[in-house]
Amino acid sequence: MIAFVTAGEFLAPNALFGLPAPLSLSWFPMRVAVLERSNGDVVLVDAGLSAAELAAPRRELGASGLLFFVRGGERAAAAARLAALGIAPGRVKAIVATHLHLDHIGAFVDFPNAEVITTAAELAAARRYGTRQGYVHVDALVRSGRVRPVLLEATPRHGFPGWLDLFGDGRVVLLDCRGHSAGHVAVLLTDPVAGRTALCAGDAAFAPHEYRALSLSPFARLNRFRESWLRESWGHLRAFESAHPETPVVLAHSKDPAGDWGRYASIGGHE
Ligand SMILES: [Zn+2]
Repeated sequence: MIAFVTAGEFLAPNALFGLPAPLSLSWFPMRVAVLERSNGDVVLVDAGLSAAELAAPRRELGASGLLFFVRGGERAAAAARLAALGIAPGRVKAIVATHLHLDHIGAFVDFPNAEVITTAAELAAARRYGTRQGYVHVDALVRSGRVRPVLLEATPRHGFPGWLDLFGDGRVVLLDCRGHSAGHVAVLLTDPVAGRTALCAGDAAFAPHEYRALSLSPFARLNRFRESWLRESWGHLRAFESAHPETPVVLAHSKDPAGDWGRYASIGGHE
C-alpha cells in the first residue's frame, strides 16, 4: 500500500510560492508518504512535525515556531493519521527523510522503532548549520542514535545522478535531488501488488510550476542551499515526469500534487 497523509498544515501567503492571488493566505500541507512492505513493516517518507509540536508549536519549536503558524493539533500528526489507517507507530521501521528541515522530521520522536535514513551530505549540513537553517532537530536526532546516514551510488538512475535502493528490492529508491538542501533526495516508492508508484520529491519544489516552468518562487529563493543544484534537479524532475506519466511527482507542500493523484489513499487536509 502507498498512502499519503497530511500531517498538519501551515499558513503562508500565496506569493511565497508564486501562486495566484498572491496577497491571500492559504494553508499548505505537510505531507507524509506511507509505504507498507510485504513483511508488515512500514516506511515513511518524511514525518512532519511531532504530535507535541503540532499541539504547541511555539512552546516546542522555540524561535522557529514564532513565524510558523500551524494547524491541526496532535490529531493531525503523522502518528494519529497512521492510526486512522490501522497502523500502530511501532510498525514504522524507517523514516526516509527527503531532507532534515524541521517540518519534515520533527515527528521521528513519535516512531520509537524507526531508523531515520538521510544522506551523509544532509546530516553533515544539518550538524554544521543547525537551527538557524531550519535543522531544529539535528541534536535530538543524533542523540537518539537512530540516524543512519547513507551514501548514494554516483551513477544515473531514473535520470537522477545518484541513487540508493534502500532494501535492495526496488521498492524504496532514494534519488539525488539536491539543491533545496545540501543532501536532499527524492524517493521513488513502488507497490508491486497494486502496481503503483510515486515519486516523493519533498521540497525540491513547492509547487509543480517551479520545476515545470523553471520559475523560482520567492520561498525557494529564500531557503535554497544552492540554486544551480536546484535547477539541475528540476531538470531531472521534468524529465522523469514526462518519461513516467503514470507516476505522480508528489511535493511535500503543494496543495494539488501533480499526476494521477486520485488513485492513492490520502488522509487529512482540505479541511
Ligand atoms: Zn525544506
